[in-house]
Amino acid sequence: MNALSIRNLRKTYSNGFEALKGIDLDVQQGDFFALLGANGAGKSTAIGIISSLVTASSGSVNIFGHNIKSETNLAKSCLGLVPQEINFNQFDTAKRIVLNQAGYYGMPRKIAMERMETCLKQVDLWDKRDVISRRLSGGMKRRVMIARAMVHAPKLLILDEPTAGVDIEIRRSMWQMMKELNAQGTTIILTTHYLEEAESLCRHIAIIDQGRIVENSDMATFLKRLHIDHFILDLAHPIETLPIIHGYSLKRISSTVIEVGVPKDNNLNELFAQLSAASIQVISMKNKSNRLEQLFVDLIENKTQKEIA
Ligand code: ADP
Repeated sequence: MNALSIRNLRKTYSNGFEALKGIDLDVQQGDFFALLGANGAGKSTAIGIISSLVTASSGSVNIFGHNIKSETNLAKSCLGLVPQEINFNQFDTAKRIVLNQAGYYGMPRKIAMERMETCLKQVDLWDKRDVISRRLSGGMKRRVMIARAMVHAPKLLILDEPTAGVDIEIRRSMWQMMKELNAQGTTIILTTHYLEEAESLCRHIAIIDQGRIVENSDMATFLKRLHIDHFILDLAHPIETLPIIHGYSLKRISSTVIEVGVPKDNNLNELFAQLSAASIQVISMKNKSNRLEQLFVDLIENKTQKEIA
């Protein structure tokens, strides 16, 4: 079953800006899914629509089979959202914050108390339950947000950049907690800027760029594409056509500059031997930009080429 199913979702803001240009996305039950994208790509808009905070211009969103428009309450009951900013009353205790949230879902007091205890224990805050949250550390405040989002036992939890701007230690402890929640059966969607974060936690990944999904695959396939180093070679003499060299991807930048993609397990000697055999002399070589940057460039170039075609 799909925890989330999005079809042809579009959003045009009132100023005419098209933030989502028709996205399709499926997230399977039990998955740990990364939604990656640069600032302004459309991640928050998509999450806003999924959590019924933003109205879509067109398209459909189903959460565990419940349409967010026609079955809003059922859909909402399956979803927990951890927003980017700390947005609880910092003069309340963690216990009150979680209990209040249970109240919004109309939970009877006894069940609310039980759920509050379970959730605060899950995020390792039970012993801090009566501390005014203003006095908690940054990492603890974020964990209060997670406990609050989990109080109604949602089957799908969306975390919007949960580790943005936090130090390494907090980030690692957040990772551990998210892994545990996922292992206990909660489907997790994480938005992040950090490839490293997605890489170490997630099984599937989608990349959104300027309101479109430009990549959607399992993490292993995605990472294979990253295991290619790109080099820029300056040639001694101009070339008209590129030779075909098995195992390497070649691109002509100009008559005397080529770019080569070298998979990590191929060696450079073989490349140079084949270039020499094709009478191509290389006078200098440099490594191209970092891998995530490279991947974004590749995806966007491919997309542009497809659009032109
Ligand atoms: P992300 O979360 O990936 O950073 P957003 O979904 O916040 O991206 O924004 C996508 C684009 O939509 C951005 O260019 C942003 O400026 C624009 N945008 C967001 N909210 C509004 C709004 N209320 N009105 C007009 N444009 C908006």
